[in-house]
Amino acid sequence: MKSAMSPQSKLPDVGTTIFTVIGQLSAEHNALNLSQGAPNFSCQPSLIDAVAKSMRAGQNQYAPMSGVAALRRALSAKVEALYGCHYDADSEVTVIASASEGIYSAISALVHPGDEVIYFEPAFDSYSPIVRLQGAKPVPVRLSMDDFSIDWDEVASVINSRTRMIIINSPHNPTGAIFTQHDIDRLTALTRNTDIVILSDEVYEHVVFDGECHESMARHPELAERSVIVSSFGKTYHVTGWRVGYTLAPEALMDEIRKVHQFMVFTADTPMQYAFAEALADPQSYLGLADFYQQKRDLLVKAMHGSRFELLPTRGSFFMLARFNHFSPLSDDEFVLKLIRDHQVSSIPLSAFYSDNKPTGLIRLSFAKDDETLYEGARRLSGV
Ligand code: GLN
Repeated sequence: MKSAMSPQSKLPDVGTTIFTVIGQLSAEHNALNLSQGAPNFSCQPSLIDAVAKSMRAGQNQYAPMSGVAALRRALSAKVEALYGCHYDADSEVTVIASASEGIYSAISALVHPGDEVIYFEPAFDSYSPIVRLQGAKPVPVRLSMDDFSIDWDEVASVINSRTRMIIINSPHNPTGAIFTQHDIDRLTALTRNTDIVILSDEVYEHVVFDGECHESMARHPELAERSVIVSSFGKTYHVTGWRVGYTLAPEALMDEIRKVHQFMVFTADTPMQYAFAEALADPQSYLGLADFYQQKRDLLVKAMHGSRFELLPTRGSFFMLARFNHFSPLSDDEFVLKLIRDHQVSSIPLSAFYSDNKPTGLIRLSFAKDDETLYEGARRLSGV
């Protein structure tokens, strides 16, 4: 439709997300999709049965704004059992319509115009635009290109009186790095006696490999006091399309987050909330996830053996980085396009996770795929 309007964009440099762009290209070229971090296999049939049951039982109207009570109670108990921190189910747990919504609500509620927000690049693509939409300044700190660890001295050098928030993400999308005790110690020391809020994106909390421990902010009382934790059922139960997640935060922070959440979506989907409350009763439904994805990681590594790619170690999440610049002069974007067009396999250029979009020589592969897809993907990548 023609319009006389030409609105002044709030995000003039932002296009459609890389996951959507690559997904469309992938479909056009009939490529095998190792790009988006979304499973191509189904969830437990019992979870679908539980949703159908709650729909039939009439749970089809608005849930309470903060979430279905049974689910908030189940989450509070789960987090206390796993990480040792008690969140009050009524005032410190909120069910949200996806982790994306939780991240938006938390930033929007807590970050003011002129504030600065530190985050780490490569980073999930939504953090920086959401900060900018508040009239605040995103301050990216680059992770080391060797092992994607955080240079805390650099973080210390960019903290100032305007720093309102630090966004962390462990296990990390897109690198698979995880927080260590050293990270916890440095973060604790750097934020002590400040009014910096930590926004901790923990959507891959149950996907940590090789027996290592997920360093949730909820394990560390001093950090928990200043943290908003965001997590998601989508990753944990293989239902990224259901758009249900949760946030945990001390009441004073949660009060503000709920003020935004209530006007953005009001509530998350009701029937799913009852189903997740039931699913959480079986801890194996989330505790088995690390082994499940570790097998997929190992399968992909083994199947890629002999390819020209150098695979970087991944300690958590369902992503793996693969280096190609020792055999191709192309930029990440060009290389990903070539893989889609000439080899019918899609991935994400790592440069998409940086604000400067400079070539990195790396692509991100998602191994949240059935084994057959992983074998076939590895076969196609080995032909490059
Ligand atoms: N979190 C997923 C990824 O990184 C999907 C994100 C999206 O499609 N917006 O691939």
